[in-house]
Amino acid sequence: MALKTAQQYLDDLRSRDIELYMFGEKVENYVDNPIIRPSINSVAMTYKLALDPEYEDIMTATSSLTGQKINRFTHLHQSTEDLIKKVKMQRLMGQKTGACFQRCVGMDAFNAVYSTTFEIDQAHGTQYHQRFVKFLEYVQENDLVVDGCMTDARGDRSKSPAQQPDPDAYLHVVERREDGLVVRGCKLHQTGMVNSHEILVMPNNSLKADEKDWAVCFAVPVDAPGMIYVYGRQASDTRKLEGGNVDIGNLHFGGQEVLTIFNNVFVPWERVFMDGETDFSTMVVERFAGYHRQSYGGCKVGVGDTLIGAAKAIADYQGAAKASHIKDKLVEMCHLNETLYGCGIACSAEGRKTAAGNYLIDQLLANICKQNVTRFPYEIARLAQDIAGGYFVTMPSEKDFNHPDIGPLVKKYSTTRNDVPVEHRQRMARLIENLTQGAAAVGYLTESMHGAGSPQAQRIMITRLVDLEHRKELAENLCGVRENPDIDW
Ligand code: SF4
Ligand code: FE
Repeated sequence: MALKTAQQYLDDLRSRDIELYMFGEKVENYVDNPIIRPSINSVAMTYKLALDPEYEDIMTATSSLTGQKINRFTHLHQSTEDLIKKVKMQRLMGQKTGACFQRCVGMDAFNAVYSTTFEIDQAHGTQYHQRFVKFLEYVQENDLVVDGCMTDARGDRSKSPAQQPDPDAYLHVVERREDGLVVRGCKLHQTGMVNSHEILVMPNNSLKADEKDWAVCFAVPVDAPGMIYVYGRQASDTRKLEGGNVDIGNLHFGGQEVLTIFNNVFVPWERVFMDGETDFSTMVVERFAGYHRQSYGGCKVGVGDTLIGAAKAIADYQGAAKASHIKDKLVEMCHLNETLYGCGIACSAEGRKTAAGNYLIDQLLANICKQNVTRFPYEIARLAQDIAGGYFVTMPSEKDFNHPDIGPLVKKYSTTRNDVPVEHRQRMARLIENLTQGAAAVGYLTESMHGAGSPQAQRIMITRLVDLEHRKELAENLCGVRENPDIDW
């Protein structure tokens, strides 16, 4: 079975028991929980679209491992064309869900771990790569969702993992047994964690030679013994419990972030892909971060498309669409959004083959992409709020609109154009609220800031990757500070 249906995916989630908490209580049937279900629907779309002939080229690929048709979310990129299709797929998914659809972290982790394990084996004579290939074949054949898992709790930020008063501040090996490892720690804000089948854990950061216990990469099933999950809150999440379907803004879709505790979890050796190779922790971290910084040039652009569409719609509904400043603001939103897309495509087109054979994005351009993503969605959101007017945050609840006595009055005074049903304005305003300061703002704004690394992480990479001395030489050649080597005719 290389491609699952959305229904089969939902059945997978129902078939297992996980220890999940939310609002201080254990969640029993999380698949049908109204707060969690929208995030599951977002992932389910990755299955549905892969089986839609219209999107086949973008949503599926031919496996380099098995030759089978697979979901692109489980693919090892084989060319720059594959890297570009990845970004296009993410834009499409953002457009269809208006939310974080979560499955990219696994895809980005596969590609980073695949190439890194190959290079670890070359340097150290280890056997990690073949183990990882076996794991990935299993993922591809069963069309699984995998959470790429990196960010630790991190304790005191001024201290490295081995210096922390609590060694569990960074996930680490606590026991090495004949049959495998035991690990303990916690990974914060894990995107789509309980919507996944498997977890692929990587180290959080560069490590010193004496920090071997923290240099660990492995995979475990989400329902492995010792795994504990605590669901992250999102702004206005409890609106999903109110029973209506207007005030939630996005009717069907949402994102998910989960505090993920590894409480002495056993990992068999065949699932261990790094154990103590501190000299490769930087490589796996930078490659995963680079791929995910590319990803944002697709997913955030797709969500941006929906916000631009919502701003255009509300301007139409309110009779403001012909105002020149509204048109200009919509152009500005498009300009910013397409600039992000340009960055996502550029770092893909400039990708290169790794020693293992899969393709890696251009790291400098991927970091430029993400640096822009830390800013432009905020400006796009500001312009959307400007166009919407204040009513999207002061509008009464849908229950007031439906009230037998005051409902007609609320509707009367919420009417804009006579030919536009007031409910359309209500729904569109709530969607703008959802995207710019409600539940979806976690994915569209704060995740744009901190996901795949906070802005300073990109600036460190840009500093490292840009050759300023070379640029200085270029200037010196032109103005005669240096003899210009090109003038030899
Ligand atoms: Fe995918 Fe974007 Fe969500 Fe990351 S933030 S998992 S790239 S949708
Ligand atoms: Fe993310």
